[in-house]
Amino acid sequence: MGRNYQRNFGVRISKIKRKFNVRNISNVRDIGNVALDSVIYPLYAVIVKSPNKDAKKVFVSAGVHGDEPAGVYALLGFLEDKIERYLDDYSFVVLPCLNPTGFVRGSRFNADCIDINRDFKEIAESKEASYIKRLLRRQQSNYAFAMDLHEDRTDKRTEDIPIHKNPRGFYLYEVSYDRKTRRGHKIIDSMKNDGIRVYTDKKVYYCSNENGLLWKPKLIHHKEGTIEEYVQRYAFNAFTTETPTCWPMKERIHAQITALCAALEEFKNVQYASGRYATAKARYATR
Ligand SMILES: [Zn+2]
Repeated sequence: MGRNYQRNFGVRISKIKRKFNVRNISNVRDIGNVALDSVIYPLYAVIVKSPNKDAKKVFVSAGVHGDEPAGVYALLGFLEDKIERYLDDYSFVVLPCLNPTGFVRGSRFNADCIDINRDFKEIAESKEASYIKRLLRRQQSNYAFAMDLHEDRTDKRTEDIPIHKNPRGFYLYEVSYDRKTRRGHKIIDSMKNDGIRVYTDKKVYYCSNENGLLWKPKLIHHKEGTIEEYVQRYAFNAFTTETPTCWPMKERIHAQITALCAALEEFKNVQYASGRYATAKARYATR
């Protein structure tokens, strides 16, 4: 299941870098390096600024689990030919491959066998989580939303749940301040209209599933150490997408890109009272 980083990722990210550098609107850079078998892999951030000073900001990431590659390819595809149509409304911070050594080995874990998506704690053990936390801290932004792209392994048991119960359709996790501020159901509706197969069974593992949306109120205090929890300090809404690995790769990539584009359309017209958000944030900070 191993992949060649340069061929599958490096070549495309270099082209993206050249495209944006010509226009002088972005900064494609590595935010740190990780190593596997004495090969160094840069962890890339693609920062693209809108010419509109009132543009909202979004934070998008993928590949924290190296055996869930569709999100990585989806973000490369998005940066290659979709991002332009959103630049009037948004500035972007995109991390297309959070776990390069996991991506290369086709593994959930990084080279030190750490699940990075359980490592967003007060003190991170992995370099990857530390780099990402540092980037978020330095940017000091309030993002309209954050989205982290994942996949569900349909060939692997999750805890004690039989394999045939693994979800075989697209679904979305969302955390937002309260039920009124959730947007995920709109994203799901839009995806259904686009013909994406959404998973609507009542349960996804142990969570209740409302027509493809698994919503929770904001909870930023490291329950599991996921990036979704961590990024809530900076984002109004945080989403996690899931596509099943039993689908053809093309369909998985298409579903992931469609989810991101649906969210970008949805949030164009969302206005938040910043005072209210600041109050909420202060409340969480003191907990
Ligand atoms: Zn995952």
